[in-house]
Amino acid sequence: MPKVGCKDLGLECGFQAEGETAEQIAEKIIEHAVQMHGMPSTKESRERTISAVRQALQRKNK
Ligand SMILES: [Zn+2]
Repeated sequence: MPKVGCKDLGLECGFQAEGETAEQIAEKIIEHAVQMHGMPSTKESRERTISAVRQALQRKNK
Protein backbone atom coordinates (compact mmCIF):
# COMPACT_ATOMS: atom_id res chain seq x y z
CA MET A 1 0.00 0.00 0.00
CA PRO A 2 1.39 3.44 -0.84
CA LYS A 3 2.63 5.58 2.02
CA VAL A 4 3.10 9.31 2.30
CA GLY A 5 4.69 10.99 5.29
CA CYS A 6 4.96 14.48 6.71
CA LYS A 7 8.51 14.54 5.30
CA ASP A 8 7.05 14.30 1.78
CA LEU A 9 5.06 17.43 2.56
CA GLY A 10 8.12 19.30 3.78
CA LEU A 11 7.65 18.80 7.52
CA GLU A 12 10.37 17.55 9.86
CA CYS A 13 8.30 14.73 11.28
CA GLY A 14 8.43 10.95 11.11
CA PHE A 15 4.67 10.41 10.75
CA GLN A 16 3.59 8.29 7.78
CA ALA A 17 0.12 7.42 6.56
CA GLU A 18 -0.85 4.65 4.18
CA GLY A 19 -3.98 4.05 2.17
CA GLU A 20 -5.34 2.84 -1.15
CA THR A 21 -5.95 6.30 -2.56
CA ALA A 22 -4.50 9.80 -2.20
CA GLU A 23 -7.75 10.85 -0.49
CA GLN A 24 -7.46 8.09 2.16
CA ILE A 25 -3.84 8.95 2.85
CA ALA A 26 -4.63 12.67 2.95
CA GLU A 27 -7.45 12.12 5.47
CA LYS A 28 -4.98 10.50 7.89
CA ILE A 29 -2.33 13.15 7.35
CA ILE A 30 -4.87 15.95 7.78
CA GLU A 31 -6.08 14.47 11.09
CA HIS A 32 -2.47 14.18 12.28
CA ALA A 33 -1.42 17.61 11.02
CA VAL A 34 -4.39 19.36 12.63
CA GLN A 35 -3.53 17.79 16.01
CA MET A 36 0.27 17.85 15.87
CA HIS A 37 1.18 20.72 13.57
CA GLY A 38 -1.66 23.13 14.26
CA MET A 39 -2.84 22.98 10.67
CA PRO A 40 -6.23 24.67 10.25
CA SER A 41 -8.99 22.20 9.38
CA THR A 42 -10.38 24.34 6.58
CA LYS A 43 -11.56 23.22 3.16
CA GLU A 44 -8.60 25.05 1.60
CA SER A 45 -5.93 23.43 3.72
CA ARG A 46 -7.55 20.04 3.20
CA GLU A 47 -7.54 20.50 -0.57
CA ARG A 48 -3.92 21.66 -0.47
CA THR A 49 -2.96 18.56 1.51
CA ILE A 50 -4.78 16.23 -0.90
CA SER A 51 -2.98 17.72 -3.91
CA ALA A 52 0.37 17.57 -2.08
CA VAL A 53 -0.26 13.88 -1.34
CA ARG A 54 -1.15 13.26 -5.01
CA GLN A 55 2.12 14.89 -6.09
CA ALA A 56 4.12 12.90 -3.56
CA LEU A 57 2.56 9.66 -4.84
CA GLN A 58 3.41 10.59 -8.43
CA ARG A 59 7.04 11.28 -7.48
CA LYS A 60 7.23 7.90 -5.74
CA ASN A 61 5.79 6.04 -8.73
CA LYS A 62 8.55 7.27 -11.03
ZN1 LIG B 1 3.74 15.23 11.28
